[in-house]
Amino acid sequence: MHFSFLAHLECSHCGETYDHLQPQAFCPSCNTPLLARYDLAAARAALDRDELRAAVRGMWRWHALLPVLDPANIVTLGEGDCPLLPLPRLGSALGMERLYVKDESSNPTGTFKARGLAAAVSKAVEVGKKRLIVPSAGNAGGALAAYAARAGLEAAIYLPDDSPDANIIEAGSYGAELHLVDGLISDCAALVRQRAESEPGWWDVSTFKEPYRVEGKKVMGYELAEAFDWTLPDVIVYPTGGGTGLVGMWKAFHELKELGWLKNEAMPRMVAVQAEGCAPVPRAFEQRAGTNQFWEGATTIASGLRVPKSFADRLIMQALYESNGTAIAVSDETLTEGAYDFATCEGIAACPEGGATLAALRVLVDQGWAKPHERVVLFNTGTALKYQ
Ligand SMILES: *Cc1c(COP(=O)(O)O)cnc(C)c1O
Ligand SMILES: [Zn+2]
Repeated sequence: MHFSFLAHLECSHCGETYDHLQPQAFCPSCNTPLLARYDLAAARAALDRDELRAAVRGMWRWHALLPVLDPANIVTLGEGDCPLLPLPRLGSALGMERLYVKDESSNPTGTFKARGLAAAVSKAVEVGKKRLIVPSAGNAGGALAAYAARAGLEAAIYLPDDSPDANIIEAGSYGAELHLVDGLISDCAALVRQRAESEPGWWDVSTFKEPYRVEGKKVMGYELAEAFDWTLPDVIVYPTGGGTGLVGMWKAFHELKELGWLKNEAMPRMVAVQAEGCAPVPRAFEQRAGTNQFWEGATTIASGLRVPKSFADRLIMQALYESNGTAIAVSDETLTEGAYDFATCEGIAACPEGGATLAALRVLVDQGWAKPHERVVLFNTGTALKYQ
């Protein structure tokens, strides 16, 4: 049997296909992300979802639906299979009977960025890349630094100089080359582009500028389906920066449908949460726009959400519209309160981005958009300890 059923890469806009045996970045004609496509008909015939359940824990249980072709190329630190926890106290305070959190704080490097970078670094190894470079709002840099060290590759990281201290210390502590930039992640991205163009060998693993970080993050969608016994929750509330997890899970749900693994085909309503100080997605949603406008003067303490415009903006908006979802902006004050309530009511050390999902749910409950009996999953994307 194939280790992976990866078939080709496909432009998410024009549909042009690209060879996955070559390094591929994004579609040069559309300037749009590429997505990995699998031979799901063959996978459907060959795979048994219940055998996957019994495999060794972690993200790579799903290797048949991930892009690495040779198991020797996998670079892992034990990412994935983070718990889905019920939230009985927060739920009853909100009048929600079936409230859960997918708690991603137990990933290596303390955030779910580990999933994406595990996939991207593994695939970079497979196609022969040796020097990896990334702009980061904070946590992606730390994750790249860790996985590059694990693989024996070089890494260069560009961070805003006002990122949380833990992010700055972390990137350097894994031996990566660290650049602190007086600006936002978009300014970091411009410097990364210049460097990658002017010096040979650098492989840019920016969000959606290569096709594999989203593959690592989509596994959160598989894990949710498995935890809910091959059904999907009614609502997923996701703190959205670059949108990797939101787009990835939406992709995963369609793959599961095509594999015939879902007991019913009801799809969740996807909710994108951003901070009021950087809310390009809610603004576009309000205008029913298909793409985002660059958000000027982005500011929020939830550094993972400080992304003025995602490279995958069209895919984010598509997932929201197709799923009958919505987009919500919350203030730094309410997201901080949300993180505090996660900690004091449930013992979960939520990051500010995780706190934002609880703040957003409060709005959705007040609006009657989320109903008491619905199964709602919040995402805590990292540990509070990275924000001290
Ligand atoms: C990067 C990040 C996000 C946003 O993730 P995307 O999938 O890129 O939208 C949310 N929370 C934390 C803690 C992050 O580091
Ligand atoms: Zn294209």
